[in-house]
Amino acid sequence: MKRLASILAAALLILISHIALGQKPNVYILATGGTIAGTGASSTGTAYSAGQVAIQTLIDAVPQIQDIVQVRGEQVVNIGSQDMSDEVWLRLVERINELVQDPDIDGIVVTHGTDTMEETALFLDLTVQTSKPVVLTGAMRPSTALSADGPLNLFNAVVVAASQDSRDRGVMVAMNGQVHAAAQVIKMHTTSVESFASPNAGPLGTVLNGKVNYQTAPGHAPLHFDVSGLRTLPKVGIIYSHSGINADMANAMLGAGYQGIVHAGVGNGNIHKAIFHVLDKARANGIIVVRSSRVPTGPTTLENEVDDEAHQFVASQWLNPQKARVLLILSLTCTHDWQQIQEYFNTISTIHI
Ligand code: GLU
Repeated sequence: MKRLASILAAALLILISHIALGQKPNVYILATGGTIAGTGASSTGTAYSAGQVAIQTLIDAVPQIQDIVQVRGEQVVNIGSQDMSDEVWLRLVERINELVQDPDIDGIVVTHGTDTMEETALFLDLTVQTSKPVVLTGAMRPSTALSADGPLNLFNAVVVAASQDSRDRGVMVAMNGQVHAAAQVIKMHTTSVESFASPNAGPLGTVLNGKVNYQTAPGHAPLHFDVSGLRTLPKVGIIYSHSGINADMANAMLGAGYQGIVHAGVGNGNIHKAIFHVLDKARANGIIVVRSSRVPTGPTTLENEVDDEAHQFVASQWLNPQKARVLLILSLTCTHDWQQIQEYFNTISTIHI
């Protein structure tokens, strides 16, 4: 009788733990590499190689994750994000759009190098279609460093991805205890763990003690581009302006197959007279020219010092050059009409105009 009671008690315990397990949200991690998966020879130095550690090692390094969610993961690539490519972007969006259809998956985390995280975040924000949270995270210090920031960033990203409050907020970046919108976030520092910020709008919220707190209302990107079936993306490059610039590089872009050029101008997207005529020629050749600015904050506005209407240039509004490039690539998958493309840039910036 005593034995039967203990067997029943054990069975009950298993049942309860299964029910408890079933209540945990399911988070799926897609790993792409970066410093979070990096290793260095020294725990105090800054030299290391990105993209060395595989996804399961990352998950195992943060056992606290298993207390709050059921987690599964897969390695998409294992690269430093300086090597991010259109091909990986297309693979990622395809996989995420597939995973979010699964009713058993509540949220997605993408681990990513920090160098181009802001670009991938915006690309996914404009191409993934789901109300489920999709959260990018990474690390500024390799996994072998003293005070590596990767484990807590990964834990926090999982917290964000698992939270009901994170639904209908599009793609986000969770770094250093803050949550940022894909369209706003930029990498602000080359080495600090406090590297990501949304200087024009502020963060969406914070993550602390295993809980995410939003200071903003939910909201999706106001644009969506369907890239399913695409194997390549339109070629778009950036010209970085500076005093004393000459036309050599701008000229080299003409005839090199570019469908779009983003000009990282000075001030409010201003263009040196040495290359103005090359950009006019680009327009005459059907290339879309977007004026953005190398100044880190503030918008590049229409019709300021440049007559955009006359030159058929597009003003990037609140997108910096690398983010403007992402929107221009996606715009060119469906139109070459500069006015329609200006509308896209206006639309994505609506909240600020
Ligand atoms: N350059 C590497 C990358 O972006 C490492 C930088 C980082 O992840 O912080 O993947």
